[in-house]
Amino acid sequence: MRPQDILTPQPAGLYCKLGDFYIDPVRPVARALITHGHSDHARAGHGEVLATQETLDMMALRHGERFARATQAIRYNETLALGGVTVRFHPAGHVLGSAQIAVTCGATRIVASGDYKDAPDPTCAPFEAVPCDVFITEATFGLPVFRHGHAAGEIDKLLGSVALFPERAHLVGAYSLGKAQRIIALLRAAGFDAPIYLHGAMEPITRYYQSRGIDLGELRPVRGVSKAELAGTITIAPPSATTDVWTRRFPDPVTAFASGWMRVRARGRQKGIELPLVISDHADWNGLCETITATGAGEIWVTHGEEDALVHWCGTRGLVARPLALVGYGEEDPEDALPAASPEGER
Ligand SMILES: [Zn+2]
Repeated sequence: MRPQDILTPQPAGLYCKLGDFYIDPVRPVARALITHGHSDHARAGHGEVLATQETLDMMALRHGERFARATQAIRYNETLALGGVTVRFHPAGHVLGSAQIAVTCGATRIVASGDYKDAPDPTCAPFEAVPCDVFITEATFGLPVFRHGHAAGEIDKLLGSVALFPERAHLVGAYSLGKAQRIIALLRAAGFDAPIYLHGAMEPITRYYQSRGIDLGELRPVRGVSKAELAGTITIAPPSATTDVWTRRFPDPVTAFASGWMRVRARGRQKGIELPLVISDHADWNGLCETITATGAGEIWVTHGEEDALVHWCGTRGLVARPLALVGYGEEDPEDALPAASPEGER
């Protein structure tokens, strides 16, 4: 069977006719398989949802318990028969509970990877390269200019600034699902053991991470804490809050923003970011290319992001590649976006 008869791009998302399900549909459908909890992939209003327990829990936290009519949890590496295909979820290394979904029909396997990163992250299971015939990849940072480097080095920059300006508060803008918890875990790994303060919007997901056994050290809500007490401290907040009147409660705040986009310096300056931190939960250019190679796939379908450069690169390697032009992905968490969000979205 041809791969495009197993998974077909439709306006609602990638559709599997043989199993009668969609992967990460952008509009309500009868049966959805969800790769991870970010709001551009995990929407409310589906009939049945199959996802990892963590993704289901995060959907309930964000959309309420009744986000779908019925839910089913699947573990990593558990195989499930759905109609004429089998599906298997593999770690995507993107955020807690994130999965790539392998769909196998006869001898043909397609892997829909959702969002992924191959860089280490202490808050989620590491990415697994899954051998397949067709690999569906994102291309958020699908240009050679995007090389994220080591996140630990960026954390050192943040701690260096805290040491240099003990009288100032440090405000780190980070997406509330995944990035925020990763920053905290990286700070702990670097030996920072003082309490870390949280903007209220960060609390539910961060507490959920802790309930799943992710060690984040002592965390405190920032509300109600006096300005003087916040000197020399680090607070994690949604990016939108770091440009808001909300920052007035902090003593002379240093504003940081953790994002793969911070590789492009102009973006940080444009948004009034004093301390850009190049930390991303997406694979960079090298990560995309190395992952494509590691899957052994002969055919690559490229979804959201910078499709053209990656499709071209695949061609130079003798791989068949095409852009899927799926719409609706990329605005990872619109509620977190900076007010002057760029058209291609912020991650
Ligand atoms: Zn995502």
